[in-house]
Amino acid sequence: MDNRLKNGLRPRPRLNLPPSPLDGSAPKSASPASRPSVMQAPVLVLNATFEPINVTAVRRALVLMLKGVAQAEESNASVVHSSSRSVSVPSVIRLLTYRHIPQQSRALSRKNILLRDRNTCQFCARALPASELTLDHVMPRSRGGHSSWENLVACCYECNNRKGDRTPEEAGLKLARRPRPFTLHTSRQLMRLIGHKDEKWRKYLFY
Ligand SMILES: [Zn+2]
Repeated sequence: MDNRLKNGLRPRPRLNLPPSPLDGSAPKSASPASRPSVMQAPVLVLNATFEPINVTAVRRALVLMLKGVAQAEESNASVVHSSSRSVSVPSVIRLLTYRHIPQQSRALSRKNILLRDRNTCQFCARALPASELTLDHVMPRSRGGHSSWENLVACCYECNNRKGDRTPEEAGLKLARRPRPFTLHTSRQLMRLIGHKDEKWRKYLFY
């Protein structure tokens, strides 16, 4: 990796949203040389300034390291082997070049709404697999409700049917919490939630 760095091969960091461990979607293919469970474990991504900015999977973190975009700050005891080398599995990585993170960089999508709501129906508070959740327009679309962060919530099919084309009040349902845009604050809460088992994340997340 060091050689690659010296050779100046440094593609711009492209932080696509990682498949979320909360979303139940696994990376599509793991390296055949590695156990898939290890490759899917969450890795905390720090900006060059050590500010936590994202959570990704080990597989993606290794790619960023190999490209010379990031380096490992913390590793765990596991080692992954490729044909030519062995690499400690990173637990925390840091981008080598500072990346400006817009205040609201999360796209409005089903995946991100479920992530924000932690795969929990916002009416009955049950945590469910993504496949058993739908999105509910709090103010129904038929009544002028928009598709926005503030008007979309994760909802189980039961509650969704019960609510129909009514407001929560009309249907006798109560929102678990007011839906908000996905902010950096939300992201950090999620990072804590995902990383609470990993001691090595703590100093970066200001526990
Ligand atoms: Zn429900």
